[in-house]
Amino acid sequence: MKSDSFYITTPIYYVNDKPHIGHAYTTVLADVLARCQRLFGRDVWFLTGTDEHGQKVQEAAAKLGVEPQVHADHTVVRFQEAWKRLEIRNDDFIRTTEPRHKLVVQEMLQDLHDRGEIYRDEYDGWYCVPCERFFTEKDLADGSCPECGRPVQRVREANYFFKMSQYQDWLVEYIQTHPEFIQPDFRRNETLGFLRKPLQDLCISRPKSRLSWGIELPFDKDYVTYVWFDALVNYISAVGYRRDDAQFARRWPAVHLIGKDILTTHTVYWPCMLKAAGVAMPRTIFAHGWWLMGSAKMSKTAGNVVNPMDMMDRYGVDPFRYFLMAEMAMGQDASFTEDAFIRRYNADLANDLGNLLNRVVSMVGKYCAGRLPAPAPGAFAQGPAADLFAQALAAAAGLKTAVETYALHAGVAGVIDVVRATNRFIEVQQPWAQARAADPGPLHTTLYAAAEVLRVCAGLLMPLMPGKMTELRAALGMENPMTVNPEELSKSEVLKPGVQVAAPGALFPRIEAPAPAAETKPDAPSAEESRAGKPASAPGTLGNPEGIITYEDFAKVQLRTAKIMTAEPIENAVKLLKLTVLMGDERRQIVAGIALYYKPEDLLGKTVVVVSNLAPIKLRGVESQGMLLAASKGERLRLVTVDGDLSSGAVVK
Ligand SMILES: [Zn+2]
Repeated sequence: MKSDSFYITTPIYYVNDKPHIGHAYTTVLADVLARCQRLFGRDVWFLTGTDEHGQKVQEAAAKLGVEPQVHADHTVVRFQEAWKRLEIRNDDFIRTTEPRHKLVVQEMLQDLHDRGEIYRDEYDGWYCVPCERFFTEKDLADGSCPECGRPVQRVREANYFFKMSQYQDWLVEYIQTHPEFIQPDFRRNETLGFLRKPLQDLCISRPKSRLSWGIELPFDKDYVTYVWFDALVNYISAVGYRRDDAQFARRWPAVHLIGKDILTTHTVYWPCMLKAAGVAMPRTIFAHGWWLMGSAKMSKTAGNVVNPMDMMDRYGVDPFRYFLMAEMAMGQDASFTEDAFIRRYNADLANDLGNLLNRVVSMVGKYCAGRLPAPAPGAFAQGPAADLFAQALAAAAGLKTAVETYALHAGVAGVIDVVRATNRFIEVQQPWAQARAADPGPLHTTLYAAAEVLRVCAGLLMPLMPGKMTELRAALGMENPMTVNPEELSKSEVLKPGVQVAAPGALFPRIEAPAPAAETKPDAPSAEESRAGKPASAPGTLGNPEGIITYEDFAKVQLRTAKIMTAEPIENAVKLLKLTVLMGDERRQIVAGIALYYKPEDLLGKTVVVVSNLAPIKLRGVESQGMLLAASKGERLRLVTVDGDLSSGAVVK
């Protein structure tokens, strides 16, 4: 790797998925980091792509009656289109069904097999079909899959194993001596915690009798490669590993951006695979957090997915990218709500940045006939303009450090601080008063300095908002507003006095916040009711408005998550299903009136919300120990579910 090389990757996304905010965040983050590094003069390569093998693709294709490849060719477009619309400028897009990838995986497997790193063995254990994973007896949670809670199958078959266990001590040592390797720190500790248990060898094959849609093992035609052993290799197959030594030497090692849910595969499997193959370790594996809505993880399995396309349509690509980068502290979780979006948009973009441009343009128009004035000689050597500009240079340095240390949000906040400081600078300098003085020097310096700082800030924010910042820089009369020359971020007086300054209209028009919905406090009447003129208190409701219960009332209801383990019809009761749910360690039988809406087999493994302190009742002679929460409207009914990452028995509040 050349010292100025910067190779960044996103995970390759499962081609069956529809792009959602999780994908969008990782990809925008990678794009922004890549653009920032380019801005700082690095030799950047940015890779994303799709993971196209495995059971789910095979099944989805079979359902549609098409070949898996045809199905993948069809669905991959959703990602490619989404990234186009999100202004993602990846240098390469790899698909694991491409020959350039498959051949490298097979060569790597053959090489590891030849060197005794892969062996064949009889396997006896438990297999979860939906998760495509094996488990040992003690891994099982109450006899079911520990990942999804579904029933598992006893499997006895021959498979191929990668001798991963032999790298355990080496990996622990490597992680401990390379603090930059896994970030943030708490994720490194998580991996080290995982490595305190003995590391098993990794089963890297699947018999074709069970799964045929995969990369065939080069040394046994009856097997395909386990999806992770295939997918992870994309990071090196895409940059010339075993094909183009010069390219590989120039790019590798990479910075891998991942979601925290795929930490183990990236920080344990992948390093061991690379070690066995004799390839250098990735520079950094950075696991970011999740976007939350309320307290639930936002993912494809929960019903709370914000479609990035919708958000873009409503607010524009650039503000959307800005929000994702500014709102989430890298590595932490953050909440995605429309309210949060509007708050940040109005504060940072409309009130601060857009307003500053507006002021500069309108005052240059008013006092200088729309032509950028020249600053007084020496104004950038000392005095208030020099002090202000020094802050802009510090923000540029701060952003660079923030990008290097995976704290992008902090770097962005630093730039917005300078924008605020410039608005204050205008308040203090009072150009409207300066305009009345005989000497135009101070007025010209004030306006020119504000424009110069805007130029630098727009350059620094260009990786986040390429469209809007190009417009901003064009408004300042720059000749090539799109191209930020790294050098211009470290020097003053780049703008040419005399150029025409004119805004194309409001850059970030203020969003009028929609009326707050569903945020009524439990002990206050809703706005709706107040407007409707209903009495503030109705008889028999303990002095509370009609239909409103107190917090204490609500607290009596205990809601807990539960995993559905079995589901079966009840004789002579077409609407009812008898369910067994697991609530922590407790098993309960619940009768639910959902038979018209759910097939029993579709319920297995779902994590639902149960009223757990309801007195048991008998329905059609069957005892029900609790009630499921469901939402219904018209002919439809859907169960309230939580995302699979929360274990059953969790308290819902
Ligand atoms: Zn499972």
